[in-house]
Amino acid sequence: MEKKIGGLLATELDEKSCLSRYHQSSLRKPSPYKPSSYLVSKLRRYEKLHKRCGPGTEAYKRATEQLDENQVRSSDKECRYVVWVATEYGLGNRIISMASSFLYALLTERIILVDQRKDINDIFCEPFPGTSWLLPLDFPLIGQIDSYNTDYSRCYGTMLKNHAINSTTTIPPLHLYLHLLHDYRAEDKTFYCQENQAFIKNVPWLVVKANIYFVPSLWLIPSFQTKLIKLFPQKDTVFHHLSRYLLHPTNQVWGMVTRSYNAYLSKADEILGIQVRVFGRRAGYFQHVMDQILDCTQREKLLPEPAEESQMMNISKTPKLKAVLVTSLHPEYSDNLKSIFLERPSSTGEMVLVYQLSGERVQQTDKKLRDQKALAEMYLLSLADKLVTSTRSTFGYVAQGLGGLKPWILLYEPRNRKAPADPPCVRAMSMEPCFIRAPLHGCQAKTIKTTPFIKYCED
Ligand code: GDP
Repeated sequence: MEKKIGGLLATELDEKSCLSRYHQSSLRKPSPYKPSSYLVSKLRRYEKLHKRCGPGTEAYKRATEQLDENQVRSSDKECRYVVWVATEYGLGNRIISMASSFLYALLTERIILVDQRKDINDIFCEPFPGTSWLLPLDFPLIGQIDSYNTDYSRCYGTMLKNHAINSTTTIPPLHLYLHLLHDYRAEDKTFYCQENQAFIKNVPWLVVKANIYFVPSLWLIPSFQTKLIKLFPQKDTVFHHLSRYLLHPTNQVWGMVTRSYNAYLSKADEILGIQVRVFGRRAGYFQHVMDQILDCTQREKLLPEPAEESQMMNISKTPKLKAVLVTSLHPEYSDNLKSIFLERPSSTGEMVLVYQLSGERVQQTDKKLRDQKALAEMYLLSLADKLVTSTRSTFGYVAQGLGGLKPWILLYEPRNRKAPADPPCVRAMSMEPCFIRAPLHGCQAKTIKTTPFIKYCED
């Protein structure tokens, strides 16, 4: 049962071709959060729908033919699609937007097809049995998708802006482009309005470009809310369950995870993950960031303080081992931590072992390997017992959600190159990713202030 994480995973998938799927329980403690039986049955129904409408089926063929011919044929409403486009943003951004799009598909009886042109196949296994989630490379719109933006005539927000559609429009277009990127406009955000969903519902193909975690806005759409409460009675477990259901690293990535884990982490009494992300053009090593990491981890008793050799009279013969997994583009943070605990004993007598899988410095050009390492590191962080993350980083959001962890968030302010002295970090109230670009104006503005379903994030 635990192999299938509380019934979350389908059974009919091949074990060898994707070791991570059924073997994650060998590295993880069981999650204290159980998926609801409604979520489990909804996923099983989704899998059936995906099998019926997915690539290679008659239904898919008909649905794409009508796109080609640009006309709706009768009785072809059985299959509707969300096409998730892989954008140029980092892996964290892509994962949180993909999970959001999947939830939207789940709520609206659509199936999701993911753009495979950016290595998705090299980092994730197929999640659904007997079918594929990859958007076929001969999809009729594939040549144009990259150029879709707010100028595109089928962009939903643009159509509203130009009055090309309004509340009386009865014939839906065959496809719509949804622009849900951080720079979206008020018109694009009306996607989150209940009254607009009725129209969107009838559009067979939705092409989505997103880099945000828009799940909180789905909670505020009344027609989705009832279902969401049943699906996720523990409201802050949406990403936790969906990511564990959807995201199974390929065997290559899984190899990196298990080798690192077995060599450096498995023997530890406790694993602390520290994710250091420094934004900005001149990102790199900063002493104030290092100071803040030390200040936070010591104040919150996540790491022991370094002591003087002379104070360490009665060192236990079997000292506790604390493994610290650092992820960062810059190796200096873990190098520094390493030397601190090499040069001096820890005040508690614990042994502190610092490990970093990669420190690429610049965001690499071999995109496949870069994404694979990034996923391996997110995954390793999610195996930690306790986690420290960097403010506003989707990389950290994925790790915390997968792990079911409420991290301590380093609240540094890189702009003036000084860390705020106090507090160096705060504990997140939720393991859910933050919706960094929530629609604070428009149809959801009022509800955000009063709803019991969502709260402002710490970062
Ligand atoms: P965000 O920019 O922090 O929100 O996270 P993203 O994952 O969207 O984008 C950052 C990208 O930079 C990642 O996808 C990685 O390619 C790279 N990156 C940033 N931090 C790390 C790190 O700690 N380890 C690795 N391997 N890559 C990182």
